Amino acid sequence: MKPYLSIVIPVYNEEGNLKSLIARLHPVMLATGHPFEIIFTDDGSRDSSLQILKDFTAIYPEVRVVEFNGNFGQHMAIMAAFEVSRGEIVITLDADLQNPPEEIPKLVAEIEKGHDVVGSIRQHRQDTFFRKTASMLVNIATRKMTGMKMTDYGCMLRAYHRNVIDNINQCREASTFIPALAQTFASSPSEVEVAHAERLEGESKYSLYKLVRLNFDLMTGFSVVPLQLFALFGILTALAAVGFAIFLFIRRFIVGAEVEGVFTLFAILFFFIGITIFGIGIVGEYVGRIYQEVRHRPRYVVRKVHGAADEQ
Ligand code: UDP
Ligand code: MG
Repeated sequence: MKPYLSIVIPVYNEEGNLKSLIARLHPVMLATGHPFEIIFTDDGSRDSSLQILKDFTAIYPEVRVVEFNGNFGQHMAIMAAFEVSRGEIVITLDADLQNPPEEIPKLVAEIEKGHDVVGSIRQHRQDTFFRKTASMLVNIATRKMTGMKMTDYGCMLRAYHRNVIDNINQCREASTFIPALAQTFASSPSEVEVAHAERLEGESKYSLYKLVRLNFDLMTGFSVVPLQLFALFGILTALAAVGFAIFLFIRRFIVGAEVEGVFTLFAILFFFIGITIFGIGIVGEYVGRIYQEVRHRPRYVVRKVHGAADEQ
């Protein structure tokens, strides 16, 4: 039977969490009374996650597993699962039980009210102070730059109507940020508050470097404001430099040539060189992404889809 609900879960080295996850998720799904499927994407795990997931397909007929042949990142893992999903409503979830599966019916009810994208706001977020502060800044910057109204970009417990999923499935971008991408296709977005828990087992799969990369995906993938801001800053600096030159010119006639203050000038110079290199970096970030896109390489490689094989 065609599922009504599709649950999508990216998995990267989550062997300690998967059994607890399915033990909580499966009863919640049964209780909805709707036909459902649970799609895991194994994002190139190096631990026993894939084996555990494959075992699930033998126990739970609703489970399907997309097996990647490498680590392509959380958002690509979700994209791949979207492509094989069939539900009318698709819900994304993290594998580490930071998003309580018990909140799923709340999201479903919100979609059934007629919304096509339902985001979530984490109540009492259980993450480090650094992560929470960084998220707050990213949320503000993203809202300003993209003009999208979303409270909590980082929370992956979200629900999408099939129409939005079909639109997302037509996107071929090699790096993306799913909540923002979905928001661009939403005609009636909504948000609900959900509980948040600490990661059950293991550590966050995002190193500081990966986190910075991810946020670059969000900033550059959905807005060219960084480039525009930089151009604006360039214009302002040039104007200030002209003003400064005029000042020095006049000063020369009044008090004569100056030699003192050379190092102050150096400091100012280094500051602007720093800004210039930063700007080249931003431009490079966009150019790199354009290059990545024009090569048209596969965004991810699916080795095999396990479970419910007869329906492929
Ligand atoms: N994840 C993934 N591929 C990656 C990194 C993470 O599939 O390269 C999955 C991970 O297994 C988890 C979800 O994405 O289900 C969120 O990751 P994590 O909990 O480590 O992120 P955090 O909660 O620290 O933001
Ligand atoms: Mg987590």
